[in-house]
Amino acid sequence: MPDVAVVGAGPIGTLVAALLQRRGLETAVYERRDAISQRPRAVGIHPPAVAVLRQLGLELPGARPIARGEARDHDRVLGAMRFAPPVLMQPQHLLQTELDAHVRHLRRATPVTGVENGARSARVHVPGGAVGARIVIAADGVDSSIRGESDAAWRRHAGRGRYLMADVGDDSELGDAAVLWFAQRGVVESFPLPSSRRRWVARAAIGTDLAQLVGERTGVRLPPSTADQTSSFIAAQHLADRWVQGRIVLLGDAAHEISPIGGQGMNLGILDAAALVPCLISALDGDTAALDSWERERKGTARKAMAQAAFNMSVGTPIPAFAQPFRRAGVRVLTWGPLARRLEAAFTMAQL
Ligand SMILES: Cc1cc2nc3c(=O)[nH]c(=O)nc-3n(C[C@H](O)[C@H](O)[C@H](O)COP(=O)(O)OP(=O)(O)OC[C@H]3O[C@@H](n4cnc5c(N)ncnc54)[C@H](O)[C@@H]3O)c2cc1C
Repeated sequence: MPDVAVVGAGPIGTLVAALLQRRGLETAVYERRDAISQRPRAVGIHPPAVAVLRQLGLELPGARPIARGEARDHDRVLGAMRFAPPVLMQPQHLLQTELDAHVRHLRRATPVTGVENGARSARVHVPGGAVGARIVIAADGVDSSIRGESDAAWRRHAGRGRYLMADVGDDSELGDAAVLWFAQRGVVESFPLPSSRRRWVARAAIGTDLAQLVGERTGVRLPPSTADQTSSFIAAQHLADRWVQGRIVLLGDAAHEISPIGGQGMNLGILDAAALVPCLISALDGDTAALDSWERERKGTARKAMAQAAFNMSVGTPIPAFAQPFRRAGVRVLTWGPLARRLEAAFTMAQL
């Protein structure tokens, strides 16, 4: 019987399994997909998460560092921030490919159809039978069926909106800077990616022409391929009220959904996983309070990240023309002196 069974081989399930195996725990991972999803999702890996990945020997050689952020209104720079150490830009599917190489006993095309939470051990149901484990980690994503079958409530938090996003070739003059345009009609975000590409994100309804919107609000012309590359997502925020129930632990998006605006969901999951490993080892050694204190501490951090993401979303909403000079002044103040240092720390997750 493995010590730990992990459900879901997204970045967080794979990472926690690799970290546990490195500490000598027999750990198996069950993933329903037969290959890594190529859907564009996370791109920014913040310094504390980079430090966790380096514990495993991941050097992220293809990642593109961003050391500078700018706030603009059209071509006027309102303020700048420095990220030291830099945020590393690496598309999620490439990070997952690297993580996969560090984990053993990963069974793809193996959907978990149920979990039994017993007094002495748990059981994971997979096609063809059931597997026992001392602890089950449910890292099965935002729609976690294991959370759905448990007593955990999925509570909605502030911060919701529909966004359009495209990753396209970059021949702009923006270089290695992450740029936020505080346009009167709504914020536009843009981040450099590896291989001379850039991600563009704007709050807008499905069917909006993203290239046209970006052109109007920023003055940057996106390539004609933008229309084919545009996808949409709903940013929403939820927190499970119980992360640990008997022998089942919720981890990553299964425990918290953080709005992608601010780019912290995967990063938070990475930090939760690193913090979980020593607590889980203590729990297996008989320390019954270890997992509860992990849950308490990490839930507090998730609440902070959600509050920050809700703030990020609210400052980017459309405003009447007369209010735009006030927003510009507010952004200038926020990106000045000591306040800029606090904002830099928040953006690089230095305090999470
Ligand atoms: C557009 C977008 C942009 C984002 N940008 C950022 C960003 O820049 N920075 C950031 O930190 N975060 C970002 N995020 C959030 C980030 O993508 C998630 O936080 C991250 O994917 C969570 O990882 P996870 O492993 O918990 O869940 P997932 O990545 O969802 O993985 C869950 C896995 O579980 C598997 N699974 C589900 N059910 C079962 C089952 N019953 N049996 C077996 N396997 C199962 C799934 O197939 C999947 O592989 C973004 C999200 C979106 C949508």
